[in-house]
Amino acid sequence: MTTPEPSVEPARLPHLRAALETFPPYIPGRQPQRVPGLAPLKLSSNENHLPPLPAVSQTIAEHVSSPASYPDDAATALRAGLADRLGVSVDNLIVTTGASELLVALTQITSDATTEAIYPRPSFEMYPQTTGLAGATRIEVPLRPDGTHDLAAMAQAITEATTLIILCSPNNPTGPALRETEVREFLTQVPDRVLVALDEAYWEFATAEGVVDGLGLVADFPNVVLLRTFSKAHGLAGLRVGYAVAAPGIIAGLLKAVIPFGVTDLSQAAALTSLQHWDEVMARAAEIAELRDWFAAELRGQGWDVPEAQGNFVWLPLGELSDAFEEASVARAVAVRNLGDGVRISIGDRAGLDRVLEITADFRAAHFA
Ligand SMILES: *Cc1c(COP(=O)(O)O)cnc(C)c1O
Repeated sequence: MTTPEPSVEPARLPHLRAALETFPPYIPGRQPQRVPGLAPLKLSSNENHLPPLPAVSQTIAEHVSSPASYPDDAATALRAGLADRLGVSVDNLIVTTGASELLVALTQITSDATTEAIYPRPSFEMYPQTTGLAGATRIEVPLRPDGTHDLAAMAQAITEATTLIILCSPNNPTGPALRETEVREFLTQVPDRVLVALDEAYWEFATAEGVVDGLGLVADFPNVVLLRTFSKAHGLAGLRVGYAVAAPGIIAGLLKAVIPFGVTDLSQAAALTSLQHWDEVMARAAEIAELRDWFAAELRGQGWDVPEAQGNFVWLPLGELSDAFEEASVARAVAVRNLGDGVRISIGDRAGLDRVLEITADFRAAHFA
C-alpha cells in the first residue's frame, strides 16, 4: 500500500464557470453539540420529529429488490397513487429525488444567462443556488417586514427577460403562508410565458384560513408548477422523494432535465405506503401544527416578534444577535438554523421545545433587558 499524498490545491484550477462565484453554497442544518446531561436536539433542518408510521417502517423492513437492478424510472405505482390521491392525471406528475431536484430541473428548463428569475428573500436557500448556477439574473424581492411575500413588488419586477418566478408557501424560513386570493390576483399579472413554481414543501402543516392550495392553481393556470415533498410532513427526508404537479408539457420538459433512476425502489415503495396512510400523515401534521401554535404563542408571550408560523418551524428575527443566539442554543445542546438575519427553529417534541423556551427567556433577559 502506498501512503496517500496530502491533498493540495493545484497552482491553477481548471476552468470553472464564473456563475459559481455569484452565489453561496447550500449549508445544511448543523448537528447539535454534545453537552453532558442534555439530550442533543436537532432543530435545524425542519425534519419531522415523530417516528415513522409503523406501516412505512414495515415497508422499509420488508422491501426486497435486487440492488443490481435499476428502479422503475417512471415511478409508475407511486405516480398512480399520487394521481389518485390528488385527482390529477399521471401525465401531470413527476417524481424526483426530493423537491430539491425539481428546483434544479425547473431552473434548467427555464433559465440561462439571458433570462431573469424572481424569488423572495429570505426564502429557501436553494433558489439563489439553482438560478445562480444556470447563470440567470437573480431578482431577489425582499419580504415585507412581517415575513410575507411582497407580491406587488414581485409582479412589478417582471420584465421581458423573466422566465421563472418562485413562490414559497409556507415560506421557509419566516413561516407565513400565501393566501389563495392574493396568489390568484398575482397570477393574473404574470404573462403566460413565465413559469411560476409554487413550493409547497410545508403545505400539510398550514392551518390558516384561506391558505393557497396549488392543486387548484395548476388546474386554472397552465404556467404554474406545484412542488411538494415526502421529506417534511411524511417524515421521509432521508429517502429523497419529491413530486411536481403541472401541465403535461412542463412535465415532459422536466423529465429531460432530471437524473434517470434517481428515486430508488425502496424510496418509491415507502412513499407509496405513506401516501396510503394519508389520514395518519395529515393527523400527525395537525399535531405538529398544534405544537407549533403553542410554541409561537409562548414565544410571543416572552416578547418575541414571531411572524405567522404555518410550517413546522418558527422564525426569530434576531438580526445581528443571530450568532449570539445560536451560541446560546449550542451551549444547551440545541442545533438551530442561523441564517444571518434571524434564526429558524424546527418544531421538536414538547420537552425539547420547553428547553428552547428556557433558552429564549434567558436570552431576552441577557440581551433585551
Ligand atoms: C425542505 C424543502 C424543500 C425540499 O426538500 P427535499 O427534501 O429535497 O424534498 C423544498 N423547498 C423548501 C422550501 C424546503 O424547505
